[in-house]
Amino acid sequence: MSWSFNYDSPAAIKGVLDENGLVMSKKFGQNFLIDTHARARLAALAAPREGLRIWEIGPGLGSLTSSLLDGGASVTAFEIDHGFCRILRDQAFGDESRFVLIEGDFLKTWEAVLARNGVPDVLCSNLPYNVGSVCIARILESGCLPPLMVFTLQTEVAQRLAASSDSKDWSSLSMLVQADYDPEICFSLSGSCFYPPPNVSSSVIVLRRRESLLPEGLRPVFVKMIRMLFSKKRKTVKNNLSAMGDASVVLREAGIDPSLRPENLSINQVVSLCQAASKV
Ligand code: SAM
Repeated sequence: MSWSFNYDSPAAIKGVLDENGLVMSKKFGQNFLIDTHARARLAALAAPREGLRIWEIGPGLGSLTSSLLDGGASVTAFEIDHGFCRILRDQAFGDESRFVLIEGDFLKTWEAVLARNGVPDVLCSNLPYNVGSVCIARILESGCLPPLMVFTLQTEVAQRLAASSDSKDWSSLSMLVQADYDPEICFSLSGSCFYPPPNVSSSVIVLRRRESLLPEGLRPVFVKMIRMLFSKKRKTVKNNLSAMGDASVVLREAGIDPSLRPENLSINQVVSLCQAASKV
């Protein structure tokens, strides 16, 4: 790779942005990881090596990308900021055959890449805070399940992903993730690891795929069911399922107390609800 750039230096970042007539944008959650040690730890969790196909959402100027490429992996990077894309293509990794840039909004581009190239081995990203959880949800809802995912996320969101059932953080996102993955919050990152420092605290989380708790073919119903169940978190399960019409029958068939709140349900209970709903 020809581009040697000091990713730890805010002055260098400002310099390259100025040269290219660019400014950083809050609306795209642009907080660059400027700590070598943090980047190395994040990249090490993805264990890049020759032949490994990694997707990265939001490469920015390529700080994490560069560590992943250095490890020998192939990286498909999805970046929404056209100015950053120009730098990535023309200055940073234009001559790197293991780097593919997908320009545009990840939420609009990823499905075509999936259809073309299949599920990546690893999804690794310092996720933009504004759309991080939506990106994770869309991927899992579709049944695209990379064996390993490594993310830097707002601590609050990481805690929801890793929550235990019956805790206050247990949510539809916890269920969606833990239906197929074992989550582990590995370490937190202080604001000074980022430029500019974000207003929220950040954690690094790893999701390791294991045997699914969802029976074959049930995912679309499961996705609809958790959306319905958590549509109003303070309401009872029965109330949230009222749109189904025969909610009482479904709950009885699944052996679930209608007065429970959605956060009291386990994934297995939601699976029973899905199976009961398909029967009645
Ligand atoms: N990976 C870089 C780093 O760690 O220094 C930048 C991470 S920054 C938190 C998030 C990046 O995601 C930014 O480059 C931003 O432009 C990009 N981004 C934001 N929303 C996006 C979207 N919907 N699709 C693709 N990229 C997006």
